[in-house]
Amino acid sequence: MPNSVPRVVVVGGGFGGLAAARALRKTNARVILVDRENHHLFQPLLYQVATSELGPAQIGSPIRGILRNQRNATVILGEVTGADSDRRCVFVDSADREGAAVKYDYLILATGVRHSYFGHGEFERFAPGLKSLADAVLIRNRILQAFEQAEAEEDPDRHRELLTFVLVGAGPTGVEMAGAMAVLVRNTLRSDFRRIDPTSARIILIDLVDRVLGTFSRNLSAAAKDRLEKLGVEVRLGRGVDQIDADGVIVAGERIASKTVIWTAGVAPSPAGKWLKAETDRAGRVRVQPDLTVPGHPEIFVVGDTASLDQDGHPLPGVAQVAMQQGRYAGTQIHRRIGGKPASRPFRYFDKGNMAVVGKGFAVLQSGRVRISGFLAWLAWAAVHLEFLGNSNLRVSVFVQWVWTSLTGQRGSRLIVNHHASAKTSMTICGSTERHPSGPRRSV
Ligand SMILES: Cc1cc2nc3c(=O)[nH]c(=O)nc-3n(C[C@H](O)[C@H](O)[C@H](O)COP(=O)(O)OP(=O)(O)OC[C@H]3O[C@@H](n4cnc5c(N)ncnc54)[C@H](O)[C@@H]3O)c2cc1C
Repeated sequence: MPNSVPRVVVVGGGFGGLAAARALRKTNARVILVDRENHHLFQPLLYQVATSELGPAQIGSPIRGILRNQRNATVILGEVTGADSDRRCVFVDSADREGAAVKYDYLILATGVRHSYFGHGEFERFAPGLKSLADAVLIRNRILQAFEQAEAEEDPDRHRELLTFVLVGAGPTGVEMAGAMAVLVRNTLRSDFRRIDPTSARIILIDLVDRVLGTFSRNLSAAAKDRLEKLGVEVRLGRGVDQIDADGVIVAGERIASKTVIWTAGVAPSPAGKWLKAETDRAGRVRVQPDLTVPGHPEIFVVGDTASLDQDGHPLPGVAQVAMQQGRYAGTQIHRRIGGKPASRPFRYFDKGNMAVVGKGFAVLQSGRVRISGFLAWLAWAAVHLEFLGNSNLRVSVFVQWVWTSLTGQRGSRLIVNHHASAKTSMTICGSTERHPSGPRRSV
């Protein structure tokens, strides 16, 4: 492709960035997609990786593979660390280069969000969040490891701590995680241990607000809470977490001893607003104009979770559909400009509805005036999630896994993947603790 064709740099290969790159497939432009991960991640099913139902490769696809047939697209594995809107370039760190300038004629920023601990960054050490595949595998390790340690533990107090799991945040991620964990402990693990009863595990879901799934109607929130309680989840609402440390959490003055705390509460946008020195909303998302460009920069678009745009007086939610529709819109606008066509109408989000799954075969669905909960909603949830998975390979693999899990109760990916496991190995023979040649003491 000649150097004279316009360069469109897309930062982020998530829902927004990928939709933008695809919308540019027929454009006479060089499309350069930069992502710090080599894969596109289907975040809505992350909780299933964290709870061992699916493996990481079932919800992620290499971005390079997705765009392999798009001749005008080049993929760069690297982390964008800043942008210079005067020189029209972004700065990229990769394995062997730091701050390499990548020039653009048009820029689309689709860098998503990170966890936010609401000013308590110290909580992160004890309560990992769920945002990436690495997070999901870490959480899976911790959950499975807790059962393994409990099986080997004599002290009943420690036993209780190990089998108490606390989730902070009762939005969709917290509710889906709690439901899936309840099914994991009550169905899959129940007959796998000899010294502990996995079904005695406590799963506690905590939120400061007074209902679960706060963005759904009150009836659906109540149905989801009811379902969680039937699954054995303790739902504690209207109480904030004061402290998280190595021994558990303190909630409204009460300590809950737990060795596994998972953060499913807040998110903070990527630093894209700072890179551009652009106006942001209170949450730090870049305020964009109705055509998704940054004021004063018609060549820079911001889409998805990184962008802030009001529609009918309300901010658009941070969901995959918004990101995909915005990405497609930004790509189409650039395509039109390069083709010499006038801009189309301002962006308008078409809301297809919200869904959340609660345990096995039960979901809540809210779409316009339609509000349903139960198995029918779960079927709709399953169909939509299969439809939007990256490629048909994943669709078949996830579908087969779901059928297998639902028939047998068994999970596909119950592995503790810990690269340093051998260094911690110790063994006890006939009640005495012996040090393994390669590791420290631990009583079993
Ligand atoms: C656990 C979980 C469950 C969810 N469930 C649902 C659901 O059921 N339904 C729903 O609609 N939405 C759900 N969401 C929200 C949905 O996933 C997001 O709204 C959507 O992913 C936003 O798309 P995006 O393109 O803005 O960002 P993302 O999809 O997050 O993509 C951002 C991309 O940018 C890359 N990136 C970030 N910073 C840089 C950088 N500096 N340099 C290079 N690359 C960078 C990241 O690696 C990533 O690939 C869920 C989110 C999570 C975390």
